[in-house]
Amino acid sequence: MIKYSVVAKQPEAHLFEVSVTIDDPDPEGQVVSLPAWIPGSYMIRDFAKNIVRIKAERIVPARGGANRGMPLLLEKLDKHTWQTEPLKPGPSKIPVILRLTYEVYAWDLSVRSAHLDTTHGFFNPSSLCLRVEGREDELCLLELQRPEGSQYRHWRVATAMRLAKNTGTIKTSPYGFGLYEAANYDELIDHPVEMGDFVLATFEAYGIPHDVVITGRVPNLDIKRLCHDLKAICEQQIALFEPEVSKPYARTSKYVPFDRYVFLTTAVGNGYGGLEHRASTALLCSRHDLPKFGETGSPNLREGYQGFLGLASHEYFHSWNVKRIKPQVFAEYDLNVENYTRLLWFFEGFTSYYDDLVLLRAGLISKQAYLKLLEKTINSVGRGSGRLKQSVAESSFDAWTKYYRQDENAPNAIISYYTKGSLIALALDLFLQKNSQGLVTLDDLMRSLWGQFGKNFYHGRPMGVTEADIFALVEKIGGMEAKNFLHAMVFGTDELPLAVMFDFFNVDYEVKLPTRKAADKLGAKLSKESGLTKLSQVYDRGAAQLAGLAAGDVLVAIDGLKADATRLDEILESYSDGQSVEIWLFRRDELLKFNLTISAAPWQEITLKAR
Ligand code: ZN
Repeated sequence: MIKYSVVAKQPEAHLFEVSVTIDDPDPEGQVVSLPAWIPGSYMIRDFAKNIVRIKAERIVPARGGANRGMPLLLEKLDKHTWQTEPLKPGPSKIPVILRLTYEVYAWDLSVRSAHLDTTHGFFNPSSLCLRVEGREDELCLLELQRPEGSQYRHWRVATAMRLAKNTGTIKTSPYGFGLYEAANYDELIDHPVEMGDFVLATFEAYGIPHDVVITGRVPNLDIKRLCHDLKAICEQQIALFEPEVSKPYARTSKYVPFDRYVFLTTAVGNGYGGLEHRASTALLCSRHDLPKFGETGSPNLREGYQGFLGLASHEYFHSWNVKRIKPQVFAEYDLNVENYTRLLWFFEGFTSYYDDLVLLRAGLISKQAYLKLLEKTINSVGRGSGRLKQSVAESSFDAWTKYYRQDENAPNAIISYYTKGSLIALALDLFLQKNSQGLVTLDDLMRSLWGQFGKNFYHGRPMGVTEADIFALVEKIGGMEAKNFLHAMVFGTDELPLAVMFDFFNVDYEVKLPTRKAADKLGAKLSKESGLTKLSQVYDRGAAQLAGLAAGDVLVAIDGLKADATRLDEILESYSDGQSVEIWLFRRDELLKFNLTISAAPWQEITLKAR
């Protein structure tokens, strides 16, 4: 057993104090390390950089019951790994107990790391809890201590981690500080923890309790409405994977991957993010995206709220797709280095397809609103020429250095395995339905994967699927034609045959007339800088690129007029394709002049309309 203790020691300095106690440590010197990345977010983040100071002690029982700490040498082996000096048992065979105590700076308000101030604390154990090498399979106890001071007396704890069974003298009540436990290190780091004075509401989906936790100010929050809508989403998804569950006698948690689920939500002025876990999700959203009393209901949801429900739906779907049905290389993560898979188009893309589709199926959005969302995704994929250069399988593999580390050239070089992956799921779903007269759908594939791979454990862990497993199942349910259809979309860079598909399903897929917006005329993504216009991205073969303009350039004047960011559309309004304009701009601190020929955007947008 490994025991961790976490205390929000100095909230005002954003410091957690953590200790890990290890009985019977490695006599040659115990090795400990902190993960370099967090599963679900494919980028090396080196969480150990936030450890401010660390010490190791040997705990020696002293007379009178108190323990004494004898300092030990601790050598740092690499950026995230330490080793103690050898720990030989003493002559009197006193058991060896090792304790490491360290401070972690927590000031990252994202879903990936840790954050602490006087208003709340949030952490992923992958940012706070050292991995004890060779002991990863042992039970982990996590003691959460309430910070000192009367201002923290109302703080509670929210996590999907279970309360510890044998707590000795420490009594822990639900949502309380005290002792929690995880079966092993892998499970420990899959349970984020929130502490503070949060809003809490609970609902049941097919008899399974779901908590909604909201941190941050949300005036006029309609939490009842939020629970109602989330419940509809959760029940849709549970029934998608386990249609039996909707029968009254089958209302039991044995059908789903968790006994209880927690939506940990942090509401801020402006923010967006989500990270999936086995029985919870950490969400970051704008406070304006949460539902307020009196606002319009389904199926005419406000865009921001619709986006929030889409995000919650996405992370919840991951409880099946990636947490249980997972790439074989993720069956046991190597948390020190990048873990490569070519399958994120499936785990992120197919999840992205279902996130909004579930809102439609649950009656939360209208068909027209759903088509608008598809339209947006199709246009975002179509805008970047990266789609013609990188396949989604390549994009998945290179997620660590490309998708997660995008620069200004991203649209011209890479394709998102989220957006294109979701369109591949859509195309495959329509293909299966079309070829089977509606008898086979993508749901059949998801259910087969869940039945064969998600439900089965191998040595206590989900067994994992390979690329070949997925293609074999597609062939089994949809035939060789379906398999080849998917293969071409995943490994190729040809345009997806969506127009034909939509036509069959009575949806008109039409090319839009080019817009007259400045961004389209210039072939660039624009942003504001000090009232002027900055080119944040320059698209391949667009007017800006052809004229020699570059990302980062700040437009100063167009044909002798100030390039006022708020009036750029107006300034360019009278110019038609083929006309030349004189552009003055700053590149870094140099004033440069270019002649730019106005042209139509290098991409074509489309619209979708139900017939
Ligand atoms: Zn995702």
